[in-house]
Amino acid sequence: MSHSAHARYFAPPPADDHGRRDLIGLSRAELAAEIAGLGEPAFRARQLWHWLYHRGETDFAAMSSLSKAFRARLAEHFTVGRPEIATAAVSTDGTRKWLLRFRDGQEVESVHIPEEDRGTLCVSSQVGCTLTCRFCHTGTQRLVRNLSAAEVVGQVMLARDAFGEWPAPEDGRRITNLVLMGMGEPLYNFDNVAKALKIVMDPEGLSFSRRKITLSTSGLVPMMARCGEELGVNLAVSLHAVRDELRDELVPLNRKYPLADLIAACRAYPGVHNARRITFEYVMLKGINDTPADAREMVRLLAGIPAKVNLIPFNPWPGAPYERSTPGTIERFARILMDAHLAAPVRQPRGQDIMAACGQLKSSSQRLRRAAAASA
Ligand code: SAH
Ligand code: SF4
Repeated sequence: MSHSAHARYFAPPPADDHGRRDLIGLSRAELAAEIAGLGEPAFRARQLWHWLYHRGETDFAAMSSLSKAFRARLAEHFTVGRPEIATAAVSTDGTRKWLLRFRDGQEVESVHIPEEDRGTLCVSSQVGCTLTCRFCHTGTQRLVRNLSAAEVVGQVMLARDAFGEWPAPEDGRRITNLVLMGMGEPLYNFDNVAKALKIVMDPEGLSFSRRKITLSTSGLVPMMARCGEELGVNLAVSLHAVRDELRDELVPLNRKYPLADLIAACRAYPGVHNARRITFEYVMLKGINDTPADAREMVRLLAGIPAKVNLIPFNPWPGAPYERSTPGTIERFARILMDAHLAAPVRQPRGQDIMAACGQLKSSSQRLRRAAAASA
């Protein structure tokens, strides 16, 4: 099943102006086929993979374990790409945000959130989002396309570049966790996201454990089982309302896949058990979804699912139609969940001063928007 039809624009072709193909984003099998095509033995592909994803090398000339002749041929046929950094910002709390620009001028944001004992990189899966959740800044962006596998992996590699972590140290690395919680709905771009995550999880490369990766979905029910089966990553579900009437309004995808279907898919998510719970994200909107009755209904709804609830104080953006619930309201809500033995941490807003907090991401791509309008 393909959901690529949801994206109105497609990623730029994988070759540059000289017909050279970017090696980043090729699966192991694809890389092996390219190398075999150059008449090289299979172990060369493995060596090359190591240079690309363990050493982070972008210059073929520096890949010293490869013969000079092979390096020259690689440079003739291929490139090793990184997204271009359009802007980089650092919050007073240490959160970093990169606005990245791809070859067609389209832009996305990635965010790095340092914490005491770990560092989380939040990556985007689409330019914009086809969904239009009412509380989300990304949902107001008109221009949408899927990211390629290279563009998803590229976000991780660029962050590693920024921290100089090639190869990544065993202890104290700056990026320990990955979350697909940036711009876009990752399950609408499943094929590219899956390909990217398989590269990211490869033990001879970036080597992220699936336990350190969390994919967040607004509830694309038919794709959830595949995500669990093929990738086995942690799942986060953007719940935000516990009655269909309200969820229809806040998360319009609910009209297609209502709560009963969503909850059934969560119950059936492969590999879920008490040590590996589903995270339910719940944005706290003042006077909208934050009453004790909502909390009690959530307890009922999630009964029997190994679950934890992440309460996210609403992060404002220009023109947003909502306000953040008060700390007292959030605390009262959390207390009801905890009394029912549901873990209910309140997510500390991070990077708000640079508009890097959950739901604040948006890239403008003004130039392209005009270009798109002109050709319409
Ligand atoms: N599209 C996916 C991945 C994005 S994750 C999804 O919706 O799950 C980003 C998380 O931030 C989601 O849970 C989203 O609902 C939440 N979010 C969006 N706008 C927000 C806002 N203004 N304040 C707080 N959280 C928000
Ligand atoms: Fe898209 Fe997620 Fe934002 Fe909804 S919350 S508009 S699904 S990015």
